[in-house]
Amino acid sequence: MRAIPDSIAGYRTMKLSPAVTSLKPSATIAAAAKAKALKSQGVTVYDFTLGEPDFNTPEHIQEAARAAMQAGHTHYTASGGIPELKKAICSAFEREQGLHYEPNQVVVSNGAKHSIHNVLTALCGPGDEVIIPAPYWVSYKSLVELAGATPVIVETTEASGFRLTAEQFERAITPRTKLLLLNSPCNPTGAVFSTQQLEDLARVAVKHNLFVCSDEIYDKLLYTDEPFKSFATLLGGIANRTIIINGVSKAYAMTGWRIGWTLAPVALTAAMDNLQSQETSNPCSISQYAALAALSGPQDCVATMRQEFARRREYTLGRIRELPQVSIPEPGGAFYAFFNVSRHFGRPLGKGTVVNNSTEFCTALLEQSHVALVSGDAFGAPGYVRMSFATGRPILEAGFDHLAAFLSGKSA
Ligand SMILES: *Cc1c(COP(=O)(O)O)cnc(C)c1O
Repeated sequence: MRAIPDSIAGYRTMKLSPAVTSLKPSATIAAAAKAKALKSQGVTVYDFTLGEPDFNTPEHIQEAARAAMQAGHTHYTASGGIPELKKAICSAFEREQGLHYEPNQVVVSNGAKHSIHNVLTALCGPGDEVIIPAPYWVSYKSLVELAGATPVIVETTEASGFRLTAEQFERAITPRTKLLLLNSPCNPTGAVFSTQQLEDLARVAVKHNLFVCSDEIYDKLLYTDEPFKSFATLLGGIANRTIIINGVSKAYAMTGWRIGWTLAPVALTAAMDNLQSQETSNPCSISQYAALAALSGPQDCVATMRQEFARRREYTLGRIRELPQVSIPEPGGAFYAFFNVSRHFGRPLGKGTVVNNSTEFCTALLEQSHVALVSGDAFGAPGYVRMSFATGRPILEAGFDHLAAFLSGKSA
């Protein structure tokens, strides 16, 4: 067979748009791919890179998807989602947070990542600044840049538990600031803001007339005593400047189904619905029925998975605290441990390799000890690494043995 000639590259350099030339692939997906490549060579890899639950989607949700197909729900739907799902999203939010939204304030999208893209594209453009606290989720910065806006990164400290303070927020505001992108519980740090801390941020947002996009995708994976409080419920009336991001990926182990949503003011919701109708028509019809079953069906699966994550978190924290020269603020939510390995830079590790930054640390650790972590560099936090504990206990145990050996200058 003859290969199709790469005719464009053949006689002329292909010019890609500036928006994609500066775009980097998602670092977590890249790190997972490296681990996968090693696994395909037959190596046992202790893979802690993935940001998704390792559980299967609960059976009753799978069943709802099968039933949806059989009932013929295999066509285009309303662009912003089927009315039943929008209603279920409003009911669930009212049940949990005591705040009433109408279906015309909901857009269902192809995952919460897509929801964030919709928000940024509909709200921000060239000249606008979006404040992002670091360490941040890998996609935030890229999504802001894709919208043509400017990310303003504000570094938080390990001492503050990686929580943006109201003072830091206010200092970062300029006349061009449009939006604060907040994530509590946070990926990658697991940081959870207290209600008091959130209210302090909310007051600054009100004072400066800013929007807050609150990514609440980990709201059901909380290990603290204080119940989850959505940003929209603060100060008794900040919903009109809040955009809530949520979805079924993390709470219901449904990452592959690609369903997320926004709760937002009506005018913004209409704009995002428009945008989505041109970009993707609608989220997958079958997945929408599955999400409907997730939200309106029994909720004990969520608690069961959370309890298992809580046990793994305890184990993970215990093992990290035993590691030499490593520090970690306690993660209050999500399923990540984000710890400081910078005290190991410049000294021999594993088979005697000297590393000088987190990326080199992760490379050496993977190559020599077959433990895969994601470098903090990807999250705007040099000196740190992220370990996902959404992994089975035997892998966690063996992985920590290998990590401990690597840090003490051996390699397993
Ligand atoms: C996983 C994740 C999302 C998006 O999840 P989807 O699968 O796109 O719904 C959004 N924000 C954060 C912080 C995440 O970790």
